[in-house]
Amino acid sequence: MKVLSVASEAVPLIKTGGLADVVGALPAALAGHGVEMTTLLPGYPSVLKALGRLRSVHAWDALLGVPARLLTGKIDGHPLLVLDAPALYARDGAPYGDAAGQDWADNWQRFSALGRAAADIAGGAVDVRGKAMRFDLVHAHDWQAAMAPAYLRFAPFGGEARRVPSIVTIHNMAFQGWFGAETFPRLGLPREAWSIDGIEYHGGIGMLKAGLACADAVTTVSPTYAREIRSAAFGMGLEGLIVARGRAVSGILNGIDTAMWNPAGDAALAARYDARKLERRSVNKRALEAEFGLDRDDGPLFIVVTRLTWQKGMDVLLEVLDHLVGLGGRLALLGSGDAAIEQALHAAAARHPGRIGVRIGYDEALSHRMQGGGDAILVPSRFEPCGLTQLYGLAYGCVPVVARTGGLADTVIDANPAALAAGVATGVQFDGVHYDAVSAALTRTVDLYGRAEQWRAVQKNAMKCDFSWTASGQAYADLYRALLA
Ligand code: ADP
Repeated sequence: MKVLSVASEAVPLIKTGGLADVVGALPAALAGHGVEMTTLLPGYPSVLKALGRLRSVHAWDALLGVPARLLTGKIDGHPLLVLDAPALYARDGAPYGDAAGQDWADNWQRFSALGRAAADIAGGAVDVRGKAMRFDLVHAHDWQAAMAPAYLRFAPFGGEARRVPSIVTIHNMAFQGWFGAETFPRLGLPREAWSIDGIEYHGGIGMLKAGLACADAVTTVSPTYAREIRSAAFGMGLEGLIVARGRAVSGILNGIDTAMWNPAGDAALAARYDARKLERRSVNKRALEAEFGLDRDDGPLFIVVTRLTWQKGMDVLLEVLDHLVGLGGRLALLGSGDAAIEQALHAAAARHPGRIGVRIGYDEALSHRMQGGGDAILVPSRFEPCGLTQLYGLAYGCVPVVARTGGLADTVIDANPAALAAGVATGVQFDGVHYDAVSAALTRTVDLYGRAEQWRAVQKNAMKCDFSWTASGQAYADLYRALLA
């Protein structure tokens, strides 16, 4: 089975968040299930540079009004297609906005072009050496790729594409890709698409909405989040559509790349270890203390690796920092995002020298060192479709302390007395992201840390969890087969 996976980012070429980890991991996850997955990405400068020489196999004179080429290459040994459209993608800055964080004004065009190209390719409208390229199914990720199912369904360029089934995966409902009505006539879609069950949304175009309405199946990245987005609190306005799509919506947990995230073979760590050599973690802890300018002691060292946003509960983290320090804890934080949160974190670090260390920026290797040396990773998200950092924490014996929501609820077993007695606890969960809940969870975590034998047991349980792609690769393959049947 040939599947075209369409996304705006993929590890190791371009990453702003967990979406890239997942898109990058899927081809390998599915290879063992008889699925050959080709990834289609926009040709950002960093992608073109990383890939070096690519073969051009097709050209569009005007893809949504701009010239574009289709290039072929490989991503980690799997087939890759790159949409090279300099007018849309050849610019400095981030994938979705400029260096100042302002979204690109033509994002509607940049990502509709990606969707249109995907539909052309899958539907057989692209010839490579006289032979039409074809795919059995299109798998689109998030709003940036969600126009692909709409172009397939309305197929303004011929009927063939209409027969190609599609899936949209929601990695985060908070990002929806809404643009004004003036963009619709420029999308090259038939008038019938401008309707409530097409791509119209609140008087403009909704790109995620279009995908949710037009795809044959909708998945999101955890079973709990799949239920949560049926409610107003999590659906962000799209809950009605999610409910209406009924059984077409399901949740499939993200896996982690166990080759990249394995403490026994992680070159980023000062000391590698496994569950039988947990004592070696202390070498990494000492290194981490030094790196963050923290006091050297045997109390618990919490870590946070995150985007600095409201979603991630960073405002509440700021509120509980004094409590954390009062408990004898220390915190090493790596993150970037909201400038006000960055400033407040720096101020907290200045207030608590030796106890709170802050690193602003994005640093993949440092995030590995933190998981390998920290005692507990704190994830106080208000909503979390799946979350990857708690999965890395589990794999590294860095005990996750998480809000009971979305994928965090699905992947961590709270260390309550019953779970401890049964020997199944893998972390600490709390209900609600506010001062009382998070500070109580910190107290509970520090108490547990003080009971060294129990703490070690929780670490070992965590490291035993299997969040590799084995089960989820199978689940996606089953879904693909069901859609083709
Ligand atoms: P989201 O996709 O909402 O940001 P996830 O937990 O699903 O959250 O994925 C975040 C990914 O990005 C993880 O791989 C995490 O380790 C990584 N990450 C987040 N912030 C940073 C940072 N500042 N430096 C390095 N890695 C980061």
